[in-house]
Amino acid sequence: MSTPDRPRIRRLPEALANKIAAGEVVERPASVLKELVENSLDAGASRIDVKVMGGGRDLVEVVDDGVGMDPGDALLCLERHATSKLPDEAALFAIRTLGFRGEALPSIAAVSRLTLLTRTADALEGTRVEIEGGRVVSQGAAGAPVGTSIRVADLFFNVPARRKFLRRPQTEMGHLSEALVRIALAYPKVGFTLEHEGRRLLSSPGSDDLRERIAAALGREVHPHLHPVDDGRGEIRVHGYVAAPAVTKTSTRGLHLFVNGRFVRDRQLHHAITRAYEGLVDRGRSPVVVLFVDLPPEEVDVNVHPQKHEVRFAEGRRVYEAVASAVGRTLAAAPWLGGERKRYALAREDEGEAPKDAYAEHRARVLAALDRYGRRPTSEQAPLPGGWGRTGAVPIRAEGPAVPSRPDGPSPLAALEALPPPDEGPSGYFGSLRVIGQLRASYILCEGEDGLVVIDQHAAHERLEFERLRALWAEQQVVSQPLLVPQVLELPLGQAQALEAHAERLAGLGFDLSSLGGGSVAVRAVPTALAHRDIVAVIDELVGDLTDVDSDAAFREAVDRLLATVACHSVVRAGDRLSLAECEALLARMDPIPFRANCPHGRPVAFALESRELERRFQRR
Ligand code: ADP
Ligand code: MG
Repeated sequence: MSTPDRPRIRRLPEALANKIAAGEVVERPASVLKELVENSLDAGASRIDVKVMGGGRDLVEVVDDGVGMDPGDALLCLERHATSKLPDEAALFAIRTLGFRGEALPSIAAVSRLTLLTRTADALEGTRVEIEGGRVVSQGAAGAPVGTSIRVADLFFNVPARRKFLRRPQTEMGHLSEALVRIALAYPKVGFTLEHEGRRLLSSPGSDDLRERIAAALGREVHPHLHPVDDGRGEIRVHGYVAAPAVTKTSTRGLHLFVNGRFVRDRQLHHAITRAYEGLVDRGRSPVVVLFVDLPPEEVDVNVHPQKHEVRFAEGRRVYEAVASAVGRTLAAAPWLGGERKRYALAREDEGEAPKDAYAEHRARVLAALDRYGRRPTSEQAPLPGGWGRTGAVPIRAEGPAVPSRPDGPSPLAALEALPPPDEGPSGYFGSLRVIGQLRASYILCEGEDGLVVIDQHAAHERLEFERLRALWAEQQVVSQPLLVPQVLELPLGQAQALEAHAERLAGLGFDLSSLGGGSVAVRAVPTALAHRDIVAVIDELVGDLTDVDSDAAFREAVDRLLATVACHSVVRAGDRLSLAECEALLARMDPIPFRANCPHGRPVAFALESRELERRFQRR
């Protein structure tokens, strides 16, 4: 029997080793940008200009006015493990720079066409190096301003498998701007610009004002809601800004956490922040926070993650406590309440006007929502004015008498009461329940075939409304209403990009949006059902994570989240008293809709206490 040839071990050529290393460091154009900009900051730049073409697939160029490199370094910096940031081994355990591995430039150069142009202040001329797929193709003296400019063209041109994985330019651009914004937040003194395809997306001059930088980076809307944090515990200093609980996000994207100037994602510290906000923001929402934790570099290990997104603390518990207490202290002072209370008091005294009755407002909303169930077109009737579409299609039969709207009717579900039950043959599960009554104006108690059934009235109604809206959207029946005065939103750059990328799909939802450059987005029309809602909040809800949405399926999910929110705000709530007939009308409409077991947010709609369980409790068996 012959043994097959044993593969021999061989040392990888440097170019191949770099290509492999690039797999870890260079995930997408945004990671190239991050590495280049971090290098510029380490080089002491006071101004950094970024130009991008084709979402970074074609070009990422970073120009800085930092210290530059001499001809020797300009070549050396492209070699593996070549860094000026670790003078000795001890330095690794007290990192004060953003870089230290000497890996970024050779990795990027291995998978792109890279041009480096650099000059130090004391040199008469600069150096230019061109490298293709890790091979130096030209080098020599060249005229250059002091500082460094690095152009990275045709990313992954020699790694087709990776290039295939790049998303559409707008999507990549969303990631790029997000990456730049994160860095810019930590360096308010450095001026930044960002251009895509010749269009200026961000321009933020360097200043001492972090608050200004936050507004430039995250959107003007947050500016008035920011409250300073500045607190220390021993050697740990925690400072920055937290936004009032009214400003929230659907994801943790609003959490900007920096440890010694480095953006990190840290589950523990995110938890410390959200814990401080507990009870102030709804579940599933996340606050907007820009927080800096500074501590002696010996106390942090940044050498944990190839892209350095994670760190390890020598004493994690102490850092956690410091963050929780710093944020908690600012929130406990509830600075945003002071302002609102004052305004409220003024309105009463000066104008002799009663403050707006939130409950009355809510009631009006509920009635309006119910109206949309109640009124629906019969064959002769004109299409519904208002509402998300022309037909109240889902839970209600197509024919039958129209119920007049009763804006001051006696109860929120009054309109349902008069409706004939759906004619789906024998009534289904919910329709077959006998309503016993209402508990705490929140739960409908029913007798079912096999015991007691408790229904959450809000969750149930929400599910109904959600399915109705979704059907209208699917049928492209959404009616759009132009705004009298187009509204201009100032959004974080990444979100503006995401909106622009999805403009066409959003048009199908009834939104007419267009980018005005930078983070400015003009809203010219919205779905009719949203015409009277806070547009900013709605858009925020919608773009929460649109940056990652690239497929139709992902977009549908994002739309579902939006519809769920709209539904949630337009239906009966816990605390609304319902008559028996209203309860019955609600249940009767539950049967024809799909997935009725949960509300669109995933909470259960109903639960059953079986007769057998009751008997057990009363020791009848
Ligand atoms: P690291 O940042 O980990 O040191 P890099 O591969 O990113 O590794 O960069 C290698 C070296 O090149 C840096 O240590 C620095 O000396 C030099 N360098 C890179 N970019 C710049 C720049 N924009 N200005 C000045 N020097 C730079
Ligand atoms: Mg670096």
